[in-house]
Amino acid sequence: MINVNLKSKAERPVIRRHPWVFSGAIRRVDGSPQPGDVIRLCGQDHRYLAWGHFSNSDITVRILGWNEDDPPGSDFFRRRLTEALARRKHLFARSGLSAFRLVYGESDGLPGLVADWYDGYIVLSAQTPGADRSKQSAAETLMELTGAKGVIERSKSDVRKLEGLEPSEGILCGQAAPEHHEILENGHRFLVDLTRGQKTGFYVDQRPNRKLVAEYAKDHTVLDVFSYTAAFSIYAASQGAASITRVESSADVTELGDRNLKLNNLDTGESIVADAFTALREFRNQGRSFDLIILDPPKLAPTKAQVERASRAYKDINLLAAKLLNPGGILATFSCSGGVSADLFQKILFGACLDAGRDLRILHHMSQGTDHPVLLTFPESWYLKGLVLQAD
Ligand code: SAH
Repeated sequence: MINVNLKSKAERPVIRRHPWVFSGAIRRVDGSPQPGDVIRLCGQDHRYLAWGHFSNSDITVRILGWNEDDPPGSDFFRRRLTEALARRKHLFARSGLSAFRLVYGESDGLPGLVADWYDGYIVLSAQTPGADRSKQSAAETLMELTGAKGVIERSKSDVRKLEGLEPSEGILCGQAAPEHHEILENGHRFLVDLTRGQKTGFYVDQRPNRKLVAEYAKDHTVLDVFSYTAAFSIYAASQGAASITRVESSADVTELGDRNLKLNNLDTGESIVADAFTALREFRNQGRSFDLIILDPPKLAPTKAQVERASRAYKDINLLAAKLLNPGGILATFSCSGGVSADLFQKILFGACLDAGRDLRILHHMSQGTDHPVLLTFPESWYLKGLVLQAD
């Protein structure tokens, strides 16, 4: 086993159970581990600190466990997967729900590994060399433990690029899913494209927020911006929205959104395939306004480096939305950028509302669903932030 030795001042975060070790924290590597190898992380005098996966990236070690007597082997990974599933037992049992996250990386003690359940199929994403190495056995174990029909790989994240890994997609075990596989979320029906859809096919992290936001939809005009396959729209329309307008840049997912609305016996409403920033400006020029606006943009700042530019984009879009709100209107606005903290996001919104000349009040703070739990020792696992705001 190769030892990776830390500088003495870098020991503290490891002892305090933060799972990442950055390259600058490393004093010496005894040998030449390959990316994905399990290593022994040591402090002063070769004193054991933790087991981890090695990588040549900025995050040189991702910690797998702190117990010296429990080195990561196949039994170790099987146990971690079993525990992750046990934590979601209540979701398997919930009626009207057949899609949710099974494994959420570091939060489940499985750095770099993400897996989502889609009614009998699992979509897996391996984001780091360590997760990449163990993905095949993870897929087989998950299939055995859940009775899934197949495990599909969708490993294509920005993190993978930073880790020097090529995208990797295909069937890891079992059979392929139908082109449009139907799932249920809070009783609503959705067709999901598990092999070509964004992320792992569906934004399961927004489940609780869709329900909450839709409570403000009844009899109201709704604008769903960055609508993907119409999930927020379907919830809002089901709650009796007066009208639904969707804005989304991809024609394909907009069309799948139409199909999803029809599948739930709802009107397809107005759909605009366009850049959201342009569309909102046009709405303003046309003098249009809405009672409820949902803004769920893609990750604008994947890492800290893009935060400044992303902040301007968040401000822009929220400023435009604030101007389009009817008196008393509701803005449900999100950021899924890891690099933008909840505090910064709120400050950006403050700036946007000030410039828009609107007073807005916070009605709710939102986060990712409980199947994406935030590990207290790892605040980086909190990526989705949202606010429901009400205008004067
Ligand atoms: N609200 C959705 C998820 C949104 S993900 C849901 O609940 O399922 C972000 C979406 O924004 C993606 O569908 C992406 O295609 C779209 N998008 C990205 N850039 C855009 C832009 N500039 N204008 C409009 N849509 C954009």
